Amino acid sequence: MNKQCPVCRQRNGERNFSAYESHGRFQKSGGKRFQYYKCTNCGSLFHAEKITNNFYKAYYPEQYYDDEPSGLSKVLTQFSNYKKRKLVESSSKDRQLSILDVGCGNGLFLKSLPNRYKKHGVEIDRKAASVAQASGAEIFVGDFTNMQISKKFDVIVSWHVIEHIVNPNAFMKKVSELLKPEGTFLCSTPNAHCLGMHFGKTDWFHLDAPRHITLFNKRSLKLIAENNGLVCERIISNYWEFPLDTFWSLKSTLLSIPMILMYPFMKRADEECITIICRKK
Ligand SMILES: [Zn+2]
Repeated sequence: MNKQCPVCRQRNGERNFSAYESHGRFQKSGGKRFQYYKCTNCGSLFHAEKITNNFYKAYYPEQYYDDEPSGLSKVLTQFSNYKKRKLVESSSKDRQLSILDVGCGNGLFLKSLPNRYKKHGVEIDRKAASVAQASGAEIFVGDFTNMQISKKFDVIVSWHVIEHIVNPNAFMKKVSELLKPEGTFLCSTPNAHCLGMHFGKTDWFHLDAPRHITLFNKRSLKLIAENNGLVCERIISNYWEFPLDTFWSLKSTLLSIPMILMYPFMKRADEECITIICRKK
């Protein structure tokens, strides 16, 4: 039977493929298989597992909320935060804006912002939240969708969070409620309409089964924003994140040879992750 799509809410989700638990390039072989459905209306990919406390206990081990990165991953995180900061600056000219980072983790992105910003974060993990708090930002601890926040913000960002959310429409609605008029929302997420997903399927670097509940594409990300009071200004490809994602997604496919020979070109064409920039109506 077709499943209801968590994005467009149509009962158009058809069985697509199933996958064992995975994280980046690592896949379990054995254990539970998760059935993914594809919506024939908006193209989103999703699984329909019951999300209970046991789900979080089983699939979000404590080290999921990692400590500070080191070595090469530290350099990559700093570069990625620099690109994100430039995006925030280019979408709002206000030099003293108030910003909310939803799913701020240990606050590294907030820390990378200039001190003239009024910095706020939301984080569900207490340990990560206390690290973020130490950097001077105001942190709200708990589940964002059900949270009472009396402030409104010029800019809200959420980097790779919406794919983990059980009800992404409620998440978008909450973002929309917390933005000032003309406020900006920047939201990054994997893009299921990429070469890595199309050809790699269960090898797709960003599948992250079963933690990634909904996998959007450009059209469905725009649709969910616009259905919740936001206007999409542009969608960009985050080619600077995860430099080797295309390699791990396509290494076992027919595209592996052109991919290795023309990696920078394939990486740009692949578009495994995207960011939507939208404005409150
Ligand atoms: Zn749909």
